Amino acid sequence: MKIYATTFRRVGLILLSLLLLAGCATVPETGRSALRLMPEAQLESMAGASFAQMRRDIPVSNNPDYNRRVQNVGQRIAHVVRNDLPDTQWEFVVFDDDSINAFAMPGGYVGVFTGMFRIAETDDELAVVMGHEVAHVVARHGNERVSQQLLIGGAGMALMLGTRNMDRTDRELILAAFGAGSTIGFLLPYSRHHEAEADEMGLFYMARAGYDPRAAITFWQKMDAESRGGVPEFLSTHPSGTTRIRLLQSLMPRALAEYERGIQTHTRVY
Ligand SMILES: [Zn+2]
Repeated sequence: MKIYATTFRRVGLILLSLLLLAGCATVPETGRSALRLMPEAQLESMAGASFAQMRRDIPVSNNPDYNRRVQNVGQRIAHVVRNDLPDTQWEFVVFDDDSINAFAMPGGYVGVFTGMFRIAETDDELAVVMGHEVAHVVARHGNERVSQQLLIGGAGMALMLGTRNMDRTDRELILAAFGAGSTIGFLLPYSRHHEAEADEMGLFYMARAGYDPRAAITFWQKMDAESRGGVPEFLSTHPSGTTRIRLLQSLMPRALAEYERGIQTHTRVY
């Protein structure tokens, strides 16, 4: 009983110190208070290793048009967020894969699958994808996802420690499982809330980079049409539908104003 009490207290102290050390941060654009318990540098190096592995597992596209467009649009949007992430070395990679998909990981690793170009026909539409993915990185959604897992895992572990008298091996097993769970957290799909936030932030990023934000509506309408013939990969992790388009429409007057201002002041050259 004494062992259990000590361990329980120690787990509580670890979680508490994590909360106090990192705790909450504010998301740019939306001002939402976000949970970030993981050291960002650690997440970024883990994501970097995963991305390098993907580059070995999936062929990288050598289509010059796709590559040029992704670099161009990606860099212009990265330029818009340079003050939020001044040290990020963005990597934009086109993967040769027919599925309609794109993703982003902590540290600025962004992948676009060649299948995406069936939907993102214009650069404005491609900017919808790039803006959305860059927004996931700026908002550090990966960190929040892992942090949520840590808390759930920590709560679960505290519960187990509280209901059972365990020997040392049991506790070590649980701690190992808890650790493994937290490292794969950033590979899980983002939540609906993160998706909506990335939509909102991405809309303003693309507008400021000089891309017509109205393309976000046509892009998601095309995604919806595509989903009638079977759900594209990007939609299975990026929920769509009328809610998403309604949100974008409600933000459109402000996004259009930023777009107009952007094309007047810096003539779309970065
Ligand atoms: Zn997303």
